[in-house]
Amino acid sequence: AAEPLAPTLDSARRVLKQYYGYDTFRPMQEDIIGHIMAGQDTVVLMPTGGGKSVCFQVPAVVQEGLCVVVSPLIALMKDQVEALKANGIAAAYINSSVGQSEQQAITGEALNGYLKLLYVSPEKLLSEGFLTFMKRLRISMFAIDEAHCISSWGHDFRPEYTQLRVLREQFPRVPIIALTATADRLTQRDIQTQLRLQEPRVFLSSFDRPNLNLIVRPGQDRVGGILEFLERHPGEAGIIYCLSRKQCETLAQKIQAKGVKAGYYHAGMTPNQRGAVQEAFLKDDLQVIVATIAFGMGIDKSNVRWVIHYNLPKNIEGYYQEIGRAGRDGSPATAVLFYSFADVMSLREMLSKDDPKLTQLNLTKLERMQQFAEAASCRRKILLNYFGETLPQDCGNCDICRNPPTTFDGTELAQKALSAVVRGRERMSLTLLIDVLRGMRNQAVLSGGYDQIKTYGAGRDLPYLDWYSYIHQMLNDGLLYIAYEEGYALKITDLGREVLQAQRPVPMKKFQPTEKAEKPTKGR
Ligand code: ADP
Ligand code: ZN
Repeated sequence: AAEPLAPTLDSARRVLKQYYGYDTFRPMQEDIIGHIMAGQDTVVLMPTGGGKSVCFQVPAVVQEGLCVVVSPLIALMKDQVEALKANGIAAAYINSSVGQSEQQAITGEALNGYLKLLYVSPEKLLSEGFLTFMKRLRISMFAIDEAHCISSWGHDFRPEYTQLRVLREQFPRVPIIALTATADRLTQRDIQTQLRLQEPRVFLSSFDRPNLNLIVRPGQDRVGGILEFLERHPGEAGIIYCLSRKQCETLAQKIQAKGVKAGYYHAGMTPNQRGAVQEAFLKDDLQVIVATIAFGMGIDKSNVRWVIHYNLPKNIEGYYQEIGRAGRDGSPATAVLFYSFADVMSLREMLSKDDPKLTQLNLTKLERMQQFAEAASCRRKILLNYFGETLPQDCGNCDICRNPPTTFDGTELAQKALSAVVRGRERMSLTLLIDVLRGMRNQAVLSGGYDQIKTYGAGRDLPYLDWYSYIHQMLNDGLLYIAYEEGYALKITDLGREVLQAQRPVPMKKFQPTEKAEKPTKGR
């Protein structure tokens, strides 16, 4: 029989106090740790800064044996291990940057039972030699960090991660804990099936960051807008995300010219240069970092007060992760996104050059990002819907809530579309749905027999682009979602069913074609 739960949690609390100096667990941490220490598979979905590391590090210290941590980011590994060692916890990491003799020393320490946590890159972990080596160890658990990398539906797919099922095959009795800060519905499912988790308990901490004020601004005169923003936020630390390296450098110069301590960061710099910039930002020697998305992974700086997106991000996952670097201390923080349709065009072009297998997925995700930027409803609701959460009321802390656009009653429109979705057995893609609503007679409509359903042609009076906008508003409002894995079929949500049953009105923003006709901004 297992030890009674209370004493184990007590020892976990003692470890938290002794090694981390914290008096109490955050509410969800305690549940998670209890579950892990009972030897169960566990999935942890928690926003960045939520305190995921403690969830496996504390059990690793309390339990006998070694916790093997799989992590895809070499830089992150080093930081985490150094932080652990600084707290007095025996930890090490092995990846391609670690020399042979050092690796030998580390494997020796692991065999001696000295180490509590060993971080490894997936490549290393999956090598023949390492799997054999692990057989000689007493392993308490596997922690899979950044577990969303396993899903080809996610935005950060790492093919090596798909091989991680060998852990379950070769170590069937060792519990697995998968952790991530970003996982839409599909990625959550992929994590469970691909890692062969056994009836895992899924802990979904809210992704809401109510302290973050969400703002979208039109993309004209971005530089002017940024300089003005800086004047209104003197001395506040912040990050500006740009698409290109060149942009990072020129924008940083313009900001420096205003007397603000700014630096830039991108993948074209040497590791030393990047390390120095990061360090200066952490130490508050730099107030502003202008960076490509390469910046910020694993950065633990709680007093970032704002994040600005100079360009539209490629998808909502990325956007969410980037804005999540602001306001980790819980105090008010701001996220500003500059948006113009020209951004969508250049991203579309960029994504079309990618692997053709991924193009459709990436374009669909870009569309969702675009619609977020053009949305008429509470932005926080849209974000949370995307991650499968619902927010009962509008947030009151986004530009739409603070300054609502005029809307019309879109209930009937929404009901027409939802009814078609249901009558078409939730198999229609967005374009097909619009064709059906508009009563088109093309191959896809006829071969699917969609001209037979009752709602066929019910939306004849509206042009294609209007329907396109309204259906995206419905996606944003969480009445529908896209099942990427089923041919991008639209599915109805519980909220959508309430609308169909006329229990819920649907305000919509009138479609404005002029938004799309906006000219590209100068200097791009
Ligand atoms: P994540 O991995 O989810 O991004 P971390 O594990 O790095 O988050 O934790 C974020 C911050 O919160 C760290 O500074 C960490 O020390 C702190 N933290 C974690 N757990 C607690 C706790 N129980 N009490 C106070 N601070 C905590
Ligand atoms: Zn809002």
